Amino acid sequence: MSTVPRIVILGAGYGGVLTALRLQKELNYNEANVTLVNKHDYHYITTHLHMPAAGTDNPENARVSISKLIDEFKIDFVKSTVVQIKPQEGKVVLEDGTLSYDYLVIGLGGESETFGIPGLKEYAMNIRSINSVRLIREHIEYQFAKFKREPERKDYLTFIVGGAGFTGIEFIGELADRIPELCKEFDVDPALVKIYNIEAAPTALPGFDPELVEYAMQVLTNKGVTFKIATAIKECMPDGVILADGETIKASTVIWTGGIRGNHLVEQAGFEAMRGRVKVDPQLRAPGYDNVFIIGDCSLIFNDQGRPFPPTAQIAMQQGITTASNLVAAIRNQPLKEFKPSIKGTVASLGKGEAIGVVGSRKLKGGTAAMMKKIIDMRYLYIIGGIPLVLKKGKF
Ligand code: FAD
Ligand code: NAD
Repeated sequence: MSTVPRIVILGAGYGGVLTALRLQKELNYNEANVTLVNKHDYHYITTHLHMPAAGTDNPENARVSISKLIDEFKIDFVKSTVVQIKPQEGKVVLEDGTLSYDYLVIGLGGESETFGIPGLKEYAMNIRSINSVRLIREHIEYQFAKFKREPERKDYLTFIVGGAGFTGIEFIGELADRIPELCKEFDVDPALVKIYNIEAAPTALPGFDPELVEYAMQVLTNKGVTFKIATAIKECMPDGVILADGETIKASTVIWTGGIRGNHLVEQAGFEAMRGRVKVDPQLRAPGYDNVFIIGDCSLIFNDQGRPFPPTAQIAMQQGITTASNLVAAIRNQPLKEFKPSIKGTVASLGKGEAIGVVGSRKLKGGTAAMMKKIIDMRYLYIIGGIPLVLKKGKF
């Protein structure tokens, strides 16, 4: 180990940014060299991406320049793409060089999980990054423009969202709000537009409070969404989907929100993983590697009943904070802390002014839940960028 330990953080998402911010606060001068690597020079606020995807918000509002978040006198930022992690050699290969580390933090986030369903990778779009949501937004507008030239092609106005988890539900709420605007802009009869949300499980938002699920489905149905529940997508084609019950729906837009997995680089590095997520030890380290911490959507942690926690921003942030203090402890030869998630609740938006949520033991719906969602979003902006970021990117 070099005299000054080298800490490398991969990914400037919720976990990586929180790790970096905490390290810059807790480390003393020259106690460690910290490098943060991310493929873009901005951090994206994943929890806002459903809005720019549908076109109800500008993608600019869902990203923040990394140089505005971190103190570059304390943290070296490297804009590059990680192509390989070599834990046995203590090295990370980037598209344009190699970094050696003494301590590594992997926070590369999740990727879309297609479960091997034919055609999804090729023909469906995902809500995962600024680039992916810009594509969805442009694609949707283009379908309206194309329909005006080929009015017999009703499939241009049919929109399929595969999966009614939180991502699917939040996106479809925004899409249903955007459609009337697009109909007006392109002089299209709203009755011609079809929006389907297709869910394999026996209910939308499986595992969530049934009364709130019912409320969400009612709100979205009133906005024009057709649910097909307990119906899996079996195949995706360039012009639609085939469902498990044999039905084919013709559509030129399929958005897949059917689940996520950890980053493929984690598996390729040789860590034992389940769908790209590594079961980390209580201190968030990879099995067999005391100097490698894995956080956020690439990590797998379990509750007291032995069930995996869902991958959320909430957990990724808390893991970032624990990892930073464990890195400081490791450098100072002090004992490491166990990670204990503190789940505050879940709030999901259903489009403008509508949401559902459980916060503590309270169930929220409608305007109150929508207000809570705004508060949660602003709290995050405050944590990473203080009042200036809240004023710049917050939605009041
Ligand atoms: P991410 O935040 O995904 O960050 C990963 C980072 O790594 C990114 O900056 C990416 O560019 C970078 N990266 C990836 N690969 C490479 C590479 N090869 N080289 C360099 N950099 C790379 N959770 C909640 O708790 N509340 C919510 O309201 C909520 N809403 C959501 C809404 C949507 C639409 C979506 C999609 C997810 C939502 N989530 C929510 C889940 C939450 O966003 C994730 O759990 C969280 O982002 C995970 O954080 P992370 O740090 O693991 O990774
Ligand atoms: P998810 O795994 O939570 O939901 C995917 C849904 O797709 C499931 O309901 C699943 O049954 C369904 N599905 C799977 N295969 C299917 C098929 N073949 N056909 C039809 N449906 C199918 O994924 P997500 O919604 O992207 O969420 C990912 C993570 O992000 C979760 O942990 C979630 O809690 C979190 N998240 C949270 C919020 C929030 O708190 N507001 C918002 C978005 C995402």
